Amino acid sequence: MATPVYSSYPPSLSPAQEKFLVSTVKDWAIQNGLVVRPSPLVVPEGVNSKGVLATNAPVTLFPSPFPRACFEEALALQTVYNELYANISCDEEWLCKIMEDLIDVDDFMSNLWKVHLAVKKEGYVQPLSLGLFRSDYMAHTPSTASSSSLKQVEFNTISSSFGGLSVGVSSLHRELLSSPSGLPTSFPAHPLFDNNLPPENTAVVTLSGGLAAAHAAYGSSKSSPALPLCIIFIVQQGERNIFDQLALSRQLTQVHKIPVFRVTTNEILDVTSISDSNPNRPLLYTPPQSRDTPFEVTTVYLRAFYDPGDYTSARDWEARTLLERSAAIKCPTVLNQLSGCKKVQQVLAEPSGPDHLSSFLKGADPSVIARLRNTFAPQYDLTSNGQGREFALNPTTAENHVLKPQREGGGNNIYKSAIPEFLRSLPETEWKRWVLMELIQPPPRARNIALRSDGEVILGDVISELGVYGTILWDQGGKILHNDQGGYLLRTKGKDVNEGGVAAGFSSLDSVLLF
Ligand code: ADP
Ligand code: MG
Ligand code: MG
Repeated sequence: MATPVYSSYPPSLSPAQEKFLVSTVKDWAIQNGLVVRPSPLVVPEGVNSKGVLATNAPVTLFPSPFPRACFEEALALQTVYNELYANISCDEEWLCKIMEDLIDVDDFMSNLWKVHLAVKKEGYVQPLSLGLFRSDYMAHTPSTASSSSLKQVEFNTISSSFGGLSVGVSSLHRELLSSPSGLPTSFPAHPLFDNNLPPENTAVVTLSGGLAAAHAAYGSSKSSPALPLCIIFIVQQGERNIFDQLALSRQLTQVHKIPVFRVTTNEILDVTSISDSNPNRPLLYTPPQSRDTPFEVTTVYLRAFYDPGDYTSARDWEARTLLERSAAIKCPTVLNQLSGCKKVQQVLAEPSGPDHLSSFLKGADPSVIARLRNTFAPQYDLTSNGQGREFALNPTTAENHVLKPQREGGGNNIYKSAIPEFLRSLPETEWKRWVLMELIQPPPRARNIALRSDGEVILGDVISELGVYGTILWDQGGKILHNDQGGYLLRTKGKDVNEGGVAAGFSSLDSVLLF
């Protein structure tokens, strides 16, 4: 199906118009904090030794067309997805069965599971968990179909990023579309622009609302004497995407009036502690600048610790364990992080066998469960001599698949023709680390122009991936205290690029123009 919408988009720009639009977008990005710290590849560290420089985030010049029905379906399903993953995180026995296969062959999964087991042995003191999730999709548009359908790429339960910056991109595109026509900053005319703006993006309000709900649900200080309360963000050293995170912390401090502190993974053991004489195990945080006035941490928001590279030594695992055993509400807990692994997504998508969706979503309308199931693309395990192995090893069928390990953050998958050879290079005992997924077919002939962070401007065929944000607070018994959705991310990459992350350098931030 070649939707005419795509073939006439975007409107063409004269060289002078493009130059003007690019400089407008660059200036808008700086003026409005749609920025990242520069890559050392672009600005050598010596040049930015004082850390004062920032550059535009990679953005598209135009919003990208996206089918309205798919967008609305993604929003409508988000709170159901939130509940599904909260309920999976509550079912330790079910997760344990999935982990059994992985921990033999995957050190990272195994170390995370060990953190859970150690804390379980001592006893968890905090029954509440917070999820800040992002469900990622593409508009699946095979040539034989008369319309697009919504298919999930993956579900993220840890460090779901770009809520902060995606609000900026929607505002940028809305502003450019709303400029009085005839201004040099206006877009050229196009039928899709008539009475049509990208939807307002509420990601910052939604995500910080989830953190604020957890902060409130924590209740009063568990220390004696009582201490002031705060939230901490656990972040990577040298994080280039800091402004995305600051959008959330600013909302928390300015609107919710909650103190927020940033702690890098390597600082955790220096600035936080648990007093073992207090059986409630409150997590204390002492800001380095005021050594004598500790705060009690209500909520720990992880924007790190999703990647094995975030754990450089045993000390980092000790830090993760300290956070997990504390009374602070974790976003996410180790169990919630593990529930988002690719293996879980493959098991949920199995077409036969136990109906996991219905058992995790008891009481949900069967038609809603069917709609959720409709968003799954076929996925296979490689543990037995089944279809998965057949599709992965045959070069013709491999061409239509992606092989995924239990990792986050982009850059970890094996694609298409590289799959058979890659698998054959591994001992068969290790194949269970991976799941095979059929490739979703995004609309053909979609095009856009991207302005990269290094100033390069690229016009070409593109693939867009929609992310929808959701936030949920639940207790280990399965009771839900807060369940909300709102805000979206569109990431757009060159058609020939397999991977998808913005931070990993593959995609640009975008917004949706619904049709
Ligand atoms: P990660 O957790 O590392 O982000 P993803 O599952 O999102 O892993 O895969 C990374 C990228 O690979 C996605 O952003 C998308 O561009 C591409 N991708 C993954 N699965 C599929 C799929 N089934 N069809 C098409 N592209 C996919
Ligand atoms: Mg992911
Ligand atoms: Mg992803």
